[in-house]
Amino acid sequence: MRILVTGGTGYIGSHTCVEAINAGHEAVVFDNLSNSSEESLNRVRAVTGTRPVFVKGDIRDRAAVSALLDKFSFDAVIHFAGLKAVGESVSKPWEYYENNICGTLVLMDELRKHGVFNFVFSSSATVYGNPEKLPLTEDAPLSALNPYGQTKLWQEDMMRAMACADPRWHIVLLRYFNPVGAHPSGLMGEDPNGIPNNLMPYITQVAIGRLRELSVFGNDYPTRDGTCIRDYIHVCDLAAGHIAVLSKINDMPGCDAVNLGSGHGYSVLEIVHAFEKAIGRPLPYRIASRRAGDAAECYADASKAERVFGWKTKRGIDEICRDAWKWQSMNPNGYGQSAS
Ligand code: NAD
Ligand code: UDP
Repeated sequence: MRILVTGGTGYIGSHTCVEAINAGHEAVVFDNLSNSSEESLNRVRAVTGTRPVFVKGDIRDRAAVSALLDKFSFDAVIHFAGLKAVGESVSKPWEYYENNICGTLVLMDELRKHGVFNFVFSSSATVYGNPEKLPLTEDAPLSALNPYGQTKLWQEDMMRAMACADPRWHIVLLRYFNPVGAHPSGLMGEDPNGIPNNLMPYITQVAIGRLRELSVFGNDYPTRDGTCIRDYIHVCDLAAGHIAVLSKINDMPGCDAVNLGSGHGYSVLEIVHAFEKAIGRPLPYRIASRRAGDAAECYADASKAERVFGWKTKRGIDEICRDAWKWQSMNPNGYGQSAS
């Protein structure tokens, strides 16, 4: 298949390009580089031998999207492009609504005009809001806790309505749990701007000495060790999930949501200790107060993905920590500058 990968220079998109190329697909990346570097595609080439075609552009730019779709005929689209920082979305809601919602509307409108209807969307477990029942199944109630989550929920709503109105759409909403880790080569990984908000990149930056210590946000939750529990999924497993979807998408008319998670929950302290094992030394951390808006526990019922497209996670928490550390130690400054 020839696949359009919006947001393909980003963290999950670049790893998905690797899996796509390894599975014999052709990837064309469209990204405005607002949160990524084209260097990630050189790394895709280093890992696979093939550099995806890159077109710099913005999904809100109708002329650019239309020209892209005139130039290439695509069998499917994987839509990663979007802004994703929860805290930033609270301080800049307009930017999030405009980028994620308007961008997706332009993209989907041009896709239908160009007859491209196979569409895989990066949704998130954030659409479940504060879970009422665990593990989370795809029919759980949906709600938004912040503008970022609202954009995912609205995008899902839009996609459900579009598929309902036009039977040509085949849309799969992939609800990611917590993507972490890096390619095992150490050549590709997550490269956040500024101080990371998320647990794993924060941990790796403490381990490399860029940050002093990890703050563990709360140890008084009703969980086994008092810290929050999440479902961490290796980014290569997550990427492989997209390729599994592509193999079935022609048989999936309409719009269907599928969780991509491991089905296992780990506490913050369990992650810290797994990481300490991977690096062979203690990680400086302290217990801090709770972070507003955090649910105590969140993990997937991952059975639908296995049932519908034969996918499940293969890598566990030890590989996640090993690969995250390899990436960080080989690239202390991310894609900006590699270690020799
Ligand atoms: P990322 O920021 O690394 O990748 C997103 C890419 O989209 C970036 O390369 C950015 O430059 C590009 N982009 C943003 N706005 C664009 C626009 N208007 N036009 C063109 N390109 C644009 O993020 P990621 O972690 O790889 O996430 C990919 C997708 O998965 C996002 O939609 C995100 O919301 C979703 N998601 C991520 C996580 C996570 O924890 N990483 C969890 C759930 C869902
Ligand atoms: N967390 C933490 N310290 C940090 C960052 C995160 O203790 O510096 C905790 C956070 O409270 C949550 C878990 O780690 O329980 C995962 O947080 P992250 O932001 O990575 O993902 P989320 O599940 O919130 O999307």
